[in-house]
Amino acid sequence: MPKLTDPAMAVPLLPSAHPPAWLGVMGGGQLGRMFAHAAQSMGFKVAVLEPGADCPAGQVAERLVNAAYSDPAALAELAQTCVAITTEFENVPADSMAWLGARSFVAPSASCVSIAQDRIAEKRFFVDCAPSSGVMPAPHKTIASHADIDDIEDELLPGILKTVRMGYDGKGQVRVRSRADVRAAFDAMDGVTCLLEKMLPLACEVSVLTARGADGASVVYPIAENVHRDGILFTTTVPGPNVSHACASQAQAAATAIVAQLGYVGVLCIEFFVLDDGTLVVNEMAPRPHNSGHYTMDACITSQFEQQVRAMARLPLGDVRQHSPSVMLNILGDVWFDGDGVTAREPAWDRVLALPGANLHLYGKDDPRRGRKMGHVTFVAPTLPAAQASLAEACAILGIAV
Ligand code: ATP
Ligand code: MG
Repeated sequence: MPKLTDPAMAVPLLPSAHPPAWLGVMGGGQLGRMFAHAAQSMGFKVAVLEPGADCPAGQVAERLVNAAYSDPAALAELAQTCVAITTEFENVPADSMAWLGARSFVAPSASCVSIAQDRIAEKRFFVDCAPSSGVMPAPHKTIASHADIDDIEDELLPGILKTVRMGYDGKGQVRVRSRADVRAAFDAMDGVTCLLEKMLPLACEVSVLTARGADGASVVYPIAENVHRDGILFTTTVPGPNVSHACASQAQAAATAIVAQLGYVGVLCIEFFVLDDGTLVVNEMAPRPHNSGHYTMDACITSQFEQQVRAMARLPLGDVRQHSPSVMLNILGDVWFDGDGVTAREPAWDRVLALPGANLHLYGKDDPRRGRKMGHVTFVAPTLPAAQASLAEACAILGIAV
């Protein structure tokens, strides 16, 4: 007899959860909001745990538990209410996910989330996966002391010094050319443990969105090509104009191997670099739906958010087929200001929505700030050049330089 306390055995024994059951989400940002929309459209009810009072997901969920991520009463309320719980916030305390996981079905698991939260653990995991995934991360070294800096091999410079925890949208990263640069950056970050990564010659950046069910079945979406600006995702184009068929297949196979080795349940996005010589390098993973997967809402049969609902409810995974070429543009708070960056203006959504194939998604944030993600627009069209033409026009209307 399998023991019910054995997590590996417990998962397949659980039946699927059906609407109108409650699904829970840790975090109240835009990813939680779009998750709630998808869950609700399938008839589920959604409870959100989030410390902030007014949040994008709280505006739409049936219940907002307004408390810290580690608040015992709040966690108990979520566990009692929900048949399954997920996270939209990568830096949710792993201990809270573990506590919830002992009382409800949690996907992704605390252990998967904790690997993705720590760049050292994440890199180690990617190295361990290399025999099955066929891809390696960038050459790197942990920097926890001045002695570590003295030991840096020449071959790792120039590089990027990244904080091990809490980095996102390029925050907590400094480009370094010498050991002296590393020392200055390390001291400026108050000596928190960092990872030094060799700066690689990137031809382009791609991401692969996957979903894996509790039964071990997995699906892989078409590969997405991403362009970043100032460390923030700017556009996602699918199919990627710079991505060869061989590269796409290699990245998809690598992603499938990585989620299987993780024993992951839910939606996971893996970012890769394509180097000038064509080599594929695995960068990092996000244990949740991802900004580069927003195109799936308008261009695929099953969106990444619906896929997360299906995986956590232990329902069959949906069809990942893309029905239209697409380009996604992130809408930052900058577009609520004139070129001077000071004078407020209302973006001309009427003109953007008049463009062919436009799908506007705004996240209900009422405080536009520079660099803040306020929404996104995805253009779908019969051909990629047509979608790209709409995107170029939208940028002109919104005053975004291309
Ligand atoms: P995210 O917003 O994806 O969470 P992040 O802040 O966690 O980003 P990374 O994805 O590691 O950080 O890096 C941000 C960007 O910096 C990458 O998309 C890439 O453009 C560039 N970059 C990071 N590491 C390297 C590298 N080793 N070589 C070259 N460019 C790099
Ligand atoms: Mg990244």
